[in-house]
Amino acid sequence: MGEVGGGAGRLVFNAMGRHPNNEPSRHRSAGNPQQSRRVAPVAWLPVALIVQKFGGTSVGDPDRIRAVADHVARTKRHGDDVVLVVSAMGKETDDLLRLASDVSGTHPGREMDMLITAGERKAMALMCMALHDMGVPADSFTGSQAGFLTDTTHGNAKILEVRPERVRVAVDAGRVAVVGGSQGVSTDNDVTFLGRGGSDTTAVALAHALGAEICELYTDVTGVFTTDPRLVPTARRMDRVSYEELLEMTASGCPKPSMRSVEYARTHGVRLHVRSAFTWQEGTWVDEREPTMEQAIVSAVTHDASEAKMTIAGVPDHAGVAATVFRALADLDVNVDLIVQNVSERGVTDISFTVPRGDIDRTLEETRKLVAEIGAVGVDADSTIARVSIVGAGMRSNPGVAATMFETLAETGVNILMISTSAIRVSCVVAEGQVEEAVAALHEAFGLADA
Ligand code: ADP
Ligand code: ASP
Ligand code: MG
Repeated sequence: MGEVGGGAGRLVFNAMGRHPNNEPSRHRSAGNPQQSRRVAPVAWLPVALIVQKFGGTSVGDPDRIRAVADHVARTKRHGDDVVLVVSAMGKETDDLLRLASDVSGTHPGREMDMLITAGERKAMALMCMALHDMGVPADSFTGSQAGFLTDTTHGNAKILEVRPERVRVAVDAGRVAVVGGSQGVSTDNDVTFLGRGGSDTTAVALAHALGAEICELYTDVTGVFTTDPRLVPTARRMDRVSYEELLEMTASGCPKPSMRSVEYARTHGVRLHVRSAFTWQEGTWVDEREPTMEQAIVSAVTHDASEAKMTIAGVPDHAGVAATVFRALADLDVNVDLIVQNVSERGVTDISFTVPRGDIDRTLEETRKLVAEIGAVGVDADSTIARVSIVGAGMRSNPGVAATMFETLAETGVNILMISTSAIRVSCVVAEGQVEEAVAALHEAFGLADA
């Protein structure tokens, strides 16, 4: 059915508000004369194509897989077409990574990706079996079969193109396509893994490629919250959030949805609905929201304890030094985040920056060489730091937000080690041991708590 790729809601002939189940969708196109003879014409309802993605916890055991299959069956009965994206069951990705470490200290990217993507492959096959039990025809597809062409960066491959022909054919035949998340095939024809949290990106990219009306991301909480609900019990579910705000939230530590998926959704205008696979209630809608007058100045508080702070002391203050340091780290593929350079005193200065904790060793090794090269005094790493951030589009038009943040931290006895800002975010690096109280205090101070 050509309409699948069209993006707009399709009209389908409908009787008594119900959709004839499990009919191949090509038989359901508007105005099909055969169908109009068979059922009484009482309503025209749009058939949507929905991409539904389920995270690890949501498909964590056989009961959960059956519960998800049941939900998909209901969505089909309601008349919508469904493409399903699944993560590996529970903590299987972590287990596979551990297994690799237990077996060997050598982890070739190609073999690691082959190993890790097995988790999603298992989940998608089991999901199809559960769907078959419920009378819903379904086919599983690996990332490669679903048309995900990626670059060759094993472990964190980037999607170059999505050609979901087989998925489209399955949907047109009235079947549910179940796609393994976070995987593809590289330009070298090898299996690739899209990185941790990559199943969200799979779902968004598929929704875009298929012209789906909605991309639903089902998880173990009821939506996107004003802060991590595990940390702050008064965290509130947001009814709506803009791509821009959510992107800043995910870039500063909110794990849901993955940052790359939000970027993809914003670039291509894919409407997201983040919701619970346990309560099935309406969750958080993510779209291009215009700021309104009533909009909160601060929408969310995030935190991130995944980075370490490095400080190069006694750096000669002349042109080209920062360029030398950060070019060398970029060439090592180290993702440097926050950078602060002090005002120089008598021709020398300090440069501090943050890097992912997992990169400390190689960053230190490289930086020690650089210290000698540029004539600095030394380098020091601190992995007991964390970043706390406030995010809100309302900040743009409201002065004093940063001041309130600093005052709140001061009143809580939290010392600020580094500060960085964007148009709609203020981040402070603090001692890791104080981050939870910092988050709670800011959440309260900006009036985000559940009423
Ligand atoms: P999934 O496996 O379903 O893809 P994750 O386990 O990666 O999802 O992320 C979901 C978790 O993220 C939730 O259990 C929640 O505790 C945590 N979380 C942290 N901050 C937030 C937030 N601001 N909003 C929603 N969830 C958050
Ligand atoms: N299973 C992978 C992970 O845990 C991919 C995903 O679930 O998004 O990172
Ligand atoms: Mg998870």
